[in-house]
Amino acid sequence: MPEGRNTSKSGRSMFLSKEQFVDILESISDGFISMDNQLDVIYFNKAAEKMLGRNREEVLAKNLFDAFPEARGSLFEEKYTEAVKTKKQISFETFFEVPPYINWYDVRIYPSKHGISVYFLVITKQKQVEEKLQKLNQELQRSNTELEQFANIISHDLQEPLRTISSFVQLLARRYENKLDEKGKTFIQYILDGTSHMQKLLLDLLSYSRVGGGKIETKSLQLEKVLKEVKRNLDKKIKENRAEIISTSLPEVYGDEMQLFTLLQNLISNSLKYRGDESPRISISAQNDSENECIVCLRDNGIGFDPKHAKHIFQIFQRLHLRSEYEGTGIGLAICKKIVERHGGHIWAESKPGQGSTFCFTLPVHKKTSAKN
Ligand code: ADP
Repeated sequence: MPEGRNTSKSGRSMFLSKEQFVDILESISDGFISMDNQLDVIYFNKAAEKMLGRNREEVLAKNLFDAFPEARGSLFEEKYTEAVKTKKQISFETFFEVPPYINWYDVRIYPSKHGISVYFLVITKQKQVEEKLQKLNQELQRSNTELEQFANIISHDLQEPLRTISSFVQLLARRYENKLDEKGKTFIQYILDGTSHMQKLLLDLLSYSRVGGGKIETKSLQLEKVLKEVKRNLDKKIKENRAEIISTSLPEVYGDEMQLFTLLQNLISNSLKYRGDESPRISISAQNDSENECIVCLRDNGIGFDPKHAKHIFQIFQRLHLRSEYEGTGIGLAICKKIVERHGGHIWAESKPGQGSTFCFTLPVHKKTSAKN
């Protein structure tokens, strides 16, 4: 078959004329340089002229390294030699630091029987954006780690003085019971309630900082098995509430067992806590979102909440109810969010007052899509 000839579906022969070839090479946005086996430039397209600031007349028929002496000793020369030797296509990105060609380049070298072709693009702008993003990401990671360490330290260190306050107030209450009037006893009770709540807050804050810190141990897990463990752990509460928990086709996911246990346990505990008048009915189901990810949803028939709060209940210490109505610290859902995000997923809630709530989250189903360690 002559060069440039193709056959269409209908069997008709089609030829690509020289003008058509040239037209294609002149219309592409990649710079294109073709050289013969002596490395003499035989084609230099318009995009190459623009990107390198050289006219084709200055370059054509010259040896590449005579036309571009600045390329001697560069990564390009190294890769070109490798491509010629191995007869294999090579692509690479490089920063060329010699004026007037200072830029980032994306280069592809294609060796052939008749010589070598090079396609290239100037990618300095993308590289600058990439570098900026990378720096921002590093900065964000650093400040996150710092914040987690800070939360860890304060929650740890504040527990000690709190324990001292609480035990001395208890001592005071016992020793001076007969000397205190009703008001004095009530005040002491307020202090004890306050310290016990603060202890819970500190412990939860500690759990929150632990969920975010360190590496997570990921592996393939049957979500159904994790749920079974959670049910076993919450057995007493489930029975007390006469709750029914139904699950359907929970998939195998890829994650940290302890963290996924905490995730399900926090959500189920909330469904039991924010129950309505009827016995709690909690159903957990899953479906594939894509080949890499599944969506797991937990639906309850509890008191529900105004959908305008659906986002901010995942923020730390955000609660929709008074502590006198429902015990809590407002950290459970923030922990859930952190766990899901550490697994590369996201979490959201849907609800209406009096109509139950649905909490959904995505999880990876394979190793390659999982976990931001
Ligand atoms: P806590 O339960 O300790 O307050 P969470 O972070 O677990 O903290 O929940 C934050 C808030 O979201 C709760 O105070 C409650 O108002 C609301 N909430 C969470 N789960 C449910 C649910 N299943 N039904 C109704 N409201 C819920």
